Amino acid sequence: MRCYYHFIIPHGPRLSWRRVPNPKHKDLTSMNYKVRTHPRARHVRLRVEPQGTVLITVPRGFDRSRLPALVAERRGWIEQVRQRLNEARPCAERAGFMPERIDLPALGERWTVHYSDNPSGRLRLVEHAGEQSLACHGQPAAPAVAELLRDWLKRRARATLVPRVSVLAAVHGFRPGKVTIRNQKSRWGSCSARGSLSLNARLLFLSPTACDSVLLHELVHTEHLDHSPAFWARLAEVDPACQRSKQELKSAWLALPDWVWV
Ligand SMILES: [Zn+2]
Repeated sequence: MRCYYHFIIPHGPRLSWRRVPNPKHKDLTSMNYKVRTHPRARHVRLRVEPQGTVLITVPRGFDRSRLPALVAERRGWIEQVRQRLNEARPCAERAGFMPERIDLPALGERWTVHYSDNPSGRLRLVEHAGEQSLACHGQPAAPAVAELLRDWLKRRARATLVPRVSVLAAVHGFRPGKVTIRNQKSRWGSCSARGSLSLNARLLFLSPTACDSVLLHELVHTEHLDHSPAFWARLAEVDPACQRSKQELKSAWLALPDWVWV
C-alpha cells in the first residue's frame, strides 16, 4: 500500500468509453491535448493542466481515432476550466519560463535570476548562494532555461527537505527510510511500504507550515500505511496545523510558476 498525497486538480467527468461519440464529428478541434494509456483505467478521463493543456487518460486498447470527437464534445467544459485557471492564477505567476525572481516561501528565500547580456556558449546555471542569485549563461531558450531551473529546484529541495525530515523524525520519534526528491506532477509526496519517502521539489513553494504538514503526513505513514483512524489520530498529535494546511494545499498548485510544469 502506498500513500499518494495528491494535488487537487479539477478532473473532468468520467466517460464510459462506450459512450464516446464516433469520430464523424465536424468540428475536429485544433485544441492541443496529450494522451496517456493507463493499464487499469476503465474510463476515459479528461484533465486540464494549469497551463491549459488537456491531458486524456484512456484504457488500454482504446481507439484513439475517437479522441478528436471527444475533445470537441467537451470543448465547453475545457474552456470553462481554462477560464477559471486564468482568473485564479495571477499574470505574474503565469509569466513564463524565464523568471527574474523565484520565491521559495518554505525556506523564506527570494532568489533573483540574471540572464547573460552576451549569450554565447553552452547554457548553464550558476548559483551564487550567498546573494541568493542565479546566473544563467549562454543563449537563453525558454524550455532549456526552465529545465535547468527545475534541476536546480530539485537540488535545493534535496539540500533542505532531507535534513528537515530528519529533524521532524527525531522530534516525533519516526524512523523513515530513504528520502527521494522528485519533480512530481500530481502529488506532494508518497511513502512506500518500506518507509521510503518521496517528496516533491515543489513543496518549496508552500508556506513552511504547509510544507511541514506534508512531511509529517508522510512520516506518519511510516507507522500507519493507510488512512485509518489511528493514522489521523497520530497525525493530529504531531501536526496540530494539518487542517489549516489542507486548505493551502488545495489551492497551492495554482500558484506554481509556469517553469515547474514540464
Ligand atoms: Zn496519506
